[in-house]
Amino acid sequence: MSSCFPIEKFAQKETPFYYYDVELLRKTLATAKEEAAKYEGFHVHYAIKANFNPRLLQIVNEAGMGADCVSGGEVDSALKAGIPADKVVFAGVGKTDKEIALALDAGIFCFNIESVPEVEAINALAAERGVVASVAIRINPNIGAHTHANITTGLAENKFGVNYEQLDEVIDTIESLPHIKLIGLHFHIGSQILVMDDFIALCGRVNELQTMLREKRGLVLPHINVGGGLGIRYDAPDKYPIPDFALYFATYAQNLNLQPGQQVHFELGRSLVAQCGSLISRVTYIKRGTCKQFMIIDAGMNDLVRPALYDAYHRIENLSSSKEDELYDVVGPICESSDVFCKDRKIPSTQRGDILAIRSAGAYGEAMAFGYNCRRLPSSLFSDEI
Ligand SMILES: *Cc1c(COP(=O)(O)O)cnc(C)c1O
Repeated sequence: MSSCFPIEKFAQKETPFYYYDVELLRKTLATAKEEAAKYEGFHVHYAIKANFNPRLLQIVNEAGMGADCVSGGEVDSALKAGIPADKVVFAGVGKTDKEIALALDAGIFCFNIESVPEVEAINALAAERGVVASVAIRINPNIGAHTHANITTGLAENKFGVNYEQLDEVIDTIESLPHIKLIGLHFHIGSQILVMDDFIALCGRVNELQTMLREKRGLVLPHINVGGGLGIRYDAPDKYPIPDFALYFATYAQNLNLQPGQQVHFELGRSLVAQCGSLISRVTYIKRGTCKQFMIIDAGMNDLVRPALYDAYHRIENLSSSKEDELYDVVGPICESSDVFCKDRKIPSTQRGDILAIRSAGAYGEAMAFGYNCRRLPSSLFSDEI
């Protein structure tokens, strides 16, 4: 049984809902900021796609973070939360004219561009407005992160970024476009990365590329954006509530060869918000099968899709029971066989009506919820609202 959850309050509420520990969120954001501030020219942008809950975005803005957006809707959410436009970067392989126009009109800091036709479209829309758009080229560094295949993004086979062979063509195009200014390089190799070696490999690629651009084209760009991807400990949220930001930023500081005045941008999503969130759910039934015991809960894959989508592990705690452990498959009510949170998990003996916390669900939880089976989207509760 965990003592840090207000279980009496939960008991009065309709489930499922996301519960956010505001104190932990603030502390995590402050730690990331402090550790980044130890190095000159390091900037942290919050990757909004991890969680775009408006209250959470407000807290992120209060911490003084910029925003990394991957859609026009996210640019809009960032601005509505008060994040200044000059701290907003906009990535994504498929930016539509409407999304580009919105970002140009807001005057965002930088577009991370991924193809020739995209940069031509941005140029045309910037020309109509009489402005010059700043862009960074997203490079596909062909590095595999040691993580789940569905969350690696930096391999040649992935749809993201510009490959080395095409880089000259992209730069030539940019240099011919009067309404585009090239200000940087952008990288993002994947997510839930816990071994620093992957980031060290990325730094190696950045250094190689910087040398090549300097020697071949005399080009030194003021901004290097290394993306996000720092992982969290899903197995031990109470022991590791805040990721090792000190090690993360030190790894980049030690391994990147920067030119004087070069600024380094980070786009952290999961590592900033995952541990502060839990999905709170009630047990609807305990169903005994022939060889299994199913714990059927009122949250489903539509509320938290990570286990079904990525085979992801989340700790599950029964907040109502401290009895002996039993083995359960914890499942949702959705009519899909993949609506399973975990199989053969040891959890204290559980009854109908018990309240569970599915931990480390602050990132890619509420943000990925959907309404399949006519289910309402999960609501949220912040710890300082009760
Ligand atoms: C998703 C994403 C991020 C954030 O990734 P995390 O693993 O949550 O830190 C950063 N940059 C880009 C371009 C992304 O698509």
